[in-house]
Amino acid sequence: MAETAVLREDLAALLRWYVDQGLDEAIGEEAVDRFAAPQPAPVAAAAQPVRAPTPIRTAAPGPAPRGPVPLESPQLVEDARVLAERCTSLAELEAAVRAFEGCALKRTAKNTVFADGTPGAPVMIVGEAPGADEDRLGKPFVGVSGQLMDRMMEAIGLTRSGGFYITNILFWRPPGNRTPTLAEQAMCLAFTRRHIELAKPKLLVLAGGVAAKAVLDTTDGIMRLRGKWASYRLSDGTELPTMPTFHPAYLLRTPASKRQSWQDLLAIDKKLKELGAR
Ligand code: URA
Repeated sequence: MAETAVLREDLAALLRWYVDQGLDEAIGEEAVDRFAAPQPAPVAAAAQPVRAPTPIRTAAPGPAPRGPVPLESPQLVEDARVLAERCTSLAELEAAVRAFEGCALKRTAKNTVFADGTPGAPVMIVGEAPGADEDRLGKPFVGVSGQLMDRMMEAIGLTRSGGFYITNILFWRPPGNRTPTLAEQAMCLAFTRRHIELAKPKLLVLAGGVAAKAVLDTTDGIMRLRGKWASYRLSDGTELPTMPTFHPAYLLRTPASKRQSWQDLLAIDKKLKELGAR
């Protein structure tokens, strides 16, 4: 294998490791070139003029907005939005997603993975994208991480047969389970936004950083977002209570984080009771 390909793979593995450790946010505005030759330390430091300290970035009161997404094809996103808007039922939306040819992921995927669980259930879970098992079976969250998700929801008395409805931002598996590009996310999100409106849940659960950032339209990472109620505004102005939480695949790799996820589940249970949904 060429040296550059090996380097690229190593760097990708390092980045994956950072994300697994929860380091999913840049903390500086500028990238640091750690390979650059070190600058010599100033010899007469005391003689240097005293500089004002660099201001410390304080946390914004709400999620930081993501801003306009640079898209290769804004027209495809608009097409998806118009198609989705026309749908007046989940069945129509599913048919529209299945017929949509704008997302290139469809060409490499075996199946369109739309949703599972009970439409109209009080909880709607939105994950990232189908993996290999989901692609093969055509249903979301049916692999190992999905099984963990089922067990977690069951712990607060919610099952697919009545308690929750489940989908992903992406309806097609990205090759090799790579993170979906912002353009792919934007295209599918146009359908997912309509999906949420038509499923009419009492509350939304966003599993993992990709879903949380996309649906809440923020640059904040899951470490900052999880465990805090956010609000998702529907087109009629209704505010849907929304809980970002860790993705079950992350919990499988980092079991110590299950404690925080349990807190999130308890918060979901409490909110459902407050909403009179159980
Ligand atoms: N991970 C997801 O985000 N969704 C699935 O359907 C499976 C794994």
